[in-house]
Amino acid sequence: MDFNSILKEEQNLDPQNWEESRAQAHRMLDEAFDLMQNVHKHPVWQKVPDSTKELAKKNIPKEGQALSEIYDEFSKHIFPYVKGNIHPRFWAYVQGTGTPTAVVADMLASAMNSNVTIGEHSAMYIDEQVINWCKEMMGFAPEASGMLVSGGSMANITGLIVGRNFKTNSTIRQKGMKAHNKQMTIYCSTETHSCVLKGGEIIGIGSDFIRKIEVNKDFSMNIEKLKETLALDIENGYEPMCIIANVGTVNTGAIDDIDAINAICKAHDIWFHIDGAFGALAKLTPEYKDKLKAIEQSDSIAFDLHKWMYMPYEVGCVLIRNKDVHRSTFGLNPSYLMAHEKGLAAGPDPLNNYAIELSRGFKALKVWMCIKEHGYAKFRGLIRQNIAQAFYLESLIRDSKELEMIVPVTMNVVCYRFYDSILDEEQLNNLNKEILMELQERAIASPSSTILNGKYCIRCAIVNHRSTKADFEDLVKQSIGIGKEILKDQ
Ligand SMILES: *Cc1c(COP(=O)(O)O)cnc(C)c1O
Repeated sequence: MDFNSILKEEQNLDPQNWEESRAQAHRMLDEAFDLMQNVHKHPVWQKVPDSTKELAKKNIPKEGQALSEIYDEFSKHIFPYVKGNIHPRFWAYVQGTGTPTAVVADMLASAMNSNVTIGEHSAMYIDEQVINWCKEMMGFAPEASGMLVSGGSMANITGLIVGRNFKTNSTIRQKGMKAHNKQMTIYCSTETHSCVLKGGEIIGIGSDFIRKIEVNKDFSMNIEKLKETLALDIENGYEPMCIIANVGTVNTGAIDDIDAINAICKAHDIWFHIDGAFGALAKLTPEYKDKLKAIEQSDSIAFDLHKWMYMPYEVGCVLIRNKDVHRSTFGLNPSYLMAHEKGLAAGPDPLNNYAIELSRGFKALKVWMCIKEHGYAKFRGLIRQNIAQAFYLESLIRDSKELEMIVPVTMNVVCYRFYDSILDEEQLNNLNKEILMELQERAIASPSSTILNGKYCIRCAIVNHRSTKADFEDLVKQSIGIGKEILKDQ
């Protein structure tokens, strides 16, 4: 092998012309800010054109290309066809809006390129500080532990793993599931998010042993059914591992009776996990503070900062009440990660002792900067604003002759449909699906859909700091208009 010639002409990935690159980067940042500042003038959604799909099929380029050209391609084919969740008229799924400051924070975090897992460097301390702020928000004690992860799914799965290991006194780490002589069971309502069910499968419980408890009229877990199922399982020799409470179900924003679930968990020594992906943040508001107080009693809670804290993707959080259990679940000390008395390896306890992941980005920076910039009271105000908007939208729907609510609003999710007594359920379902698709295709608004008790409904999950009252007024007007239009054409 002759590598000598290579070393005569060493290369790197930095720009050849820093000034040109800097100017180009400034243009790119300006246009990112233009997009955010003027987003309300853009369509909330538009179909991705064939030209973009063609671009995305090209093979890996062998030779390089000027950044300005690449950026032109991006501006033409990629940038305009956004999903829309930065837009004030977006209420589909549960997707946060993002903030301009977070864009810059992400850029700075990339410039630092810190791998926030081990070592004595600033990002380790800021990451920890953000976790401490999350504990404060949820009323967890300072001794609790936590981790910023990619989102609610990872946060839920992490909580379940810790709970499972706690139940097996961590022997599972050496012996695996098979050595655990009892079949463990998990309890959650039928309205529980699919990622939690996936989590139960991933940790080796098996979907047959995830007991999906039926719900009440308001889509919260039926506690009597929970008690019955639990008693029967105990009688039959199963080992109840965890009860998962929803604080804000994905379909309707329903809140399970967390006081009752907490009491049952404590009485039976069962891990109490909460999926509070978006709803847990309502704990910040005076209206929901008391109802959500029992969050403080949970063993683990998962919630997202990229939903109702309006951060750009990705950032979620899991908190674990018992730090020792958390560490004993994930702690490992390989020789290449050894802590030292001084130097780079003298930092805090490496974070991979608390996580599935080893390498982690500095996603804490955007959270840190935005919370400092606005203060947490501002976030509380925006969360309240979204709740107020949901109730306002509900009132508009109830006041209209043509629309009906499918379930009363409990927090920030609104499920409604166009209704006409001459139509049967199937026709209503088809009509409402058509209305939803037209709302999106005409770039009026982007709600999404769900099915509740067999009824197709148009669903708005409001976690958007840019929406205004007028946006919801127009949504109602246009839903009615499109519905009538379709009926007339039939
Ligand atoms: C969004 C959501 C999840 C999943 O969170 P991701 O951040 O998308 O992984 C889990 N549970 C509920 C209730 C959700 O709304």
